[in-house]
Amino acid sequence: MKGFPIRRASDEVHERIDALREYFGRDLVIVGHHYQCDDVVAHVDRVGDSLELARMMDSIEARHVIFCGVHFMAESAALLARPGQRVYLPAPDASCVMSEMTPAALLEKVFDRVSAEGRRVLPLAYVNTSLAVKAVVGRHGGAVCTSANADRIMRWALENGDAVFFLPDRNLGINTAERLGLSESARALVNIRRDGEQAFLPDGVRLLLWPGCCAVHACFRPELAEAARRKDPGARILVHPECSPAMVRTSDGAGSTSYLIREAESARPGSVLYIGTESNLVHRLMVRHAGRVRIEPLTESTCSNMLKVDAESLLRTLEGIRRGDAADVRVDGAMTAPARASLQRMLDYCAR
Ligand code: SF4
Repeated sequence: MKGFPIRRASDEVHERIDALREYFGRDLVIVGHHYQCDDVVAHVDRVGDSLELARMMDSIEARHVIFCGVHFMAESAALLARPGQRVYLPAPDASCVMSEMTPAALLEKVFDRVSAEGRRVLPLAYVNTSLAVKAVVGRHGGAVCTSANADRIMRWALENGDAVFFLPDRNLGINTAERLGLSESARALVNIRRDGEQAFLPDGVRLLLWPGCCAVHACFRPELAEAARRKDPGARILVHPECSPAMVRTSDGAGSTSYLIREAESARPGSVLYIGTESNLVHRLMVRHAGRVRIEPLTESTCSNMLKVDAESLLRTLEGIRRGDAADVRVDGAMTAPARASLQRMLDYCAR
């Protein structure tokens, strides 16, 4: 457990959360991402990955929705919320480092340059992007995707455009392209330096990639898989596709958070799994399957932004809602229609 922070608020904090939950009854729902710590997950009504959480909004009728995750997730929830429904993020400064790697204004400039020669370029944004970026993508006919549906949505985009502009995670872009059999010569990283003034779409390229990545997943390296196999011959190595292509190639399987959870559930009794993703999820799986399957973290890697939400900030949010002064996540009206269009394209396509 070295390097893995266990968080536990006082009993009093948990009791006050429970009391406020009772006070609100069905008027309030708490949802949370799988990367949240146990102290928070203990209070959520629904837990899921990015795709599951986006889909859940449709079925939530409560007036107040507390979203335990990072800012882009709460923004997407606010975008999909019903009229009058309010979404709160317990730690408003819980950002996502990857999403910040694509400022919307820069994306707009780069997109104009790469599509200047008249080829139809379809932007495809990983869900880990700001609402402003989703709006740019929606305005240009593109869609959002998650790690759970990147294969399907990228195939759709390749069939409907001359080229696909994937952002912000180059690792997910390359790993998805490899699954679809898109050759290396048909892929290129876009040059975003100097305000994107040198950005262009090279001849023959069908997949242009933004040079972003997730620091939490970048730390999983092939050497860790080799060390795990030396220690536990026969162990399976499973990783998230935000890991580097080299790491994914070395692994026995790569997929979204929901894929990793399913693999742990269906693993043979007595088997050993090393999982390369955020530590809070891995440790929860270790506990859930203890005695049946041995689960180990490939190495410890926590998302410091996800950890900004804790039981104390959850309690403060509940108290603020009760007083009537909790700040909810607001969506800029001008961005609503195009951002919703990019998200809706994904939800509609996945519903088929
Ligand atoms: S784990 Fe990576 S992609 Fe996910 S919220 Fe944290 S920084 Fe962003």
